[in-house]
Amino acid sequence: MAHYPFLRMISDEQRSRIIALADEFLEDFDRQGSAEELLAAIGAMIEGSHSNRDLILDIINIIIEQVVAHFRPDTADDSGKYFNLISLLNQVPIKTHSIRYRPTLELIRGLGRREHTAEEDFETLQLMIILNEIEDYEHAGNIIWEHHQSDKGIDLLDLIYGIERARMLARQDKIIDQIGQWLMLILQIGKTFNYDCVYWVVVSWVRSSGCLRNTEHKKHLLHHLYGNYKGDQPLVTAQILYELFNLENRLLNPVEKMGYFVKLQQYQPSTLRVQQLQQLYFFAGNYSSGIQSRFKESIQYYQLSNYYLHKNWEALRNISAFLREHLGKKQYYQVMHYVEIQMQHFSSLLSLQSNAYVENLQINYSRIEGLYKQVEELSLTDSLTGLRNRRYLENNLYHMIMLAARQKVPIGFAMLDLDHFKNVNDTFGHLAGDFVLEELAAIITSFFRKSDIIVRYGGEEFFIVLFDTSQSRTVELMSRLREHVEQHIFEYMDQHIRITASIGISCHTFANRQWDPDMITIIDEVDKALYKAKTSGRNQIIIHPTEFPA
Ligand code: GH3
Ligand code: MG
Ligand code: MG
Repeated sequence: MAHYPFLRMISDEQRSRIIALADEFLEDFDRQGSAEELLAAIGAMIEGSHSNRDLILDIINIIIEQVVAHFRPDTADDSGKYFNLISLLNQVPIKTHSIRYRPTLELIRGLGRREHTAEEDFETLQLMIILNEIEDYEHAGNIIWEHHQSDKGIDLLDLIYGIERARMLARQDKIIDQIGQWLMLILQIGKTFNYDCVYWVVVSWVRSSGCLRNTEHKKHLLHHLYGNYKGDQPLVTAQILYELFNLENRLLNPVEKMGYFVKLQQYQPSTLRVQQLQQLYFFAGNYSSGIQSRFKESIQYYQLSNYYLHKNWEALRNISAFLREHLGKKQYYQVMHYVEIQMQHFSSLLSLQSNAYVENLQINYSRIEGLYKQVEELSLTDSLTGLRNRRYLENNLYHMIMLAARQKVPIGFAMLDLDHFKNVNDTFGHLAGDFVLEELAAIITSFFRKSDIIVRYGGEEFFIVLFDTSQSRTVELMSRLREHVEQHIFEYMDQHIRITASIGISCHTFANRQWDPDMITIIDEVDKALYKAKTSGRNQIIIHPTEFPA
């Protein structure tokens, strides 16, 4: 016996009665009137209840669970044709020059109907499906009523028309009528068709029933169907999964939703309609960019979503063309309303989609930018010159000073700043400026030992630490460097560039005194000397004295 966790309104007594009547109906299809008895009992229960919506949901729940429990997978399966036809009809309207036209026509022709040609049957079938889809129930209904099923039993077309009729009633929320129609279908299919087809009908029932829409009942039923379906018809499983995926957010969280998406990806796209595929990929695009930070996947999903959105437009155009061809002027005029609403819907989807896409790009772009900055910050090397950067200096200067202090060796510090470097950029361009900086870095490097530290301190400022070097030697080296820069011609794309540099120097010996060095003081000393070199005419060297003369 099935387990019913969601039942709210129905009493134990009512439940037992529904179960008994449903079982009777399911076990003995040939007994006249068993469906009527069940419907009459339901009618009576609903009449007597003030909150009949929940009661109806309970009743539908019980009946569907009984149906599912009743049917077992058959050994002989000949439902392939039926499902082929269904998946072809997923793509209506199928135009005469489409590659799907022939196979669909052959399937219909195979039914061997006499009254009409297969072409006529096909055309009517498509028209009915489209009218139902665009909710023109009046005209869809006319076609459905005209479709008399033969006494012999039910065939493929009857089944499709039967399902469409039930869906129509379900969407119109005609409770007793729709339950009656679904039961009738199940009864007829139970006699003629097999397990997969029964499931297909039940899934269609859960999908299209207006009153089940986004209720716990629906979620429960879908779970129940998913867990109990033992056939291997991909259309059935894909539709159950899609319906689960499509439940409202309050009934399932994004992780669950994504889980269904992943499962659905194992199925052929032909098991779903283009609208469904578009929704799937749009969600996956959002999910991947927002929750999982998976940039590459999200872009792929958005691309697919976009592809199916365009397919949707195409389908709408085809529907409109098909209807124009097959309907009278007046009726076509009436359905234009639907086409307009759909057009509006698609165009808002399109802008929603491109917004999401751009947003995703933006988020990921700034994420990459942030990462790039982080990497840059973590790096100890300047990317233009290949010299060590300021970060390196900050990490190591203290250590170097301590080492010099411990070994009591002199240490020289210098800051070199190019003179009027802005002019180089202004005259020769920024790229020429970059070139000068690169070449200058090479020149400086060639001037000193490997153990000396050369740092690109700022834009056109270089900080140099000479380990175990006396003040006189430091001054000598720096003078030669200054001269060399002055003499050097920087050749950039046939342009000859000349520059000069100002250098501030500060030296320390640890031989005779206890000195507790700190970086800020040292940088400050060198800076002061450099400032003096700049203010007193540039292109010169100034050594920081312990005290500048006043
Ligand atoms: P002075 O130092 O003699 O006072 O004049 P200046 O023009 O060199 O001084 P300032 O510090 O005002 O300008 C430094 C210029 O260096 C500004 C900027 O355009 C340029 N600069 C800094 N970094 C780079 C770089 O990486 N590439 C290039 N091409 N130019 C840079
Ligand atoms: Mg500067
Ligand atoms: Mg400068």
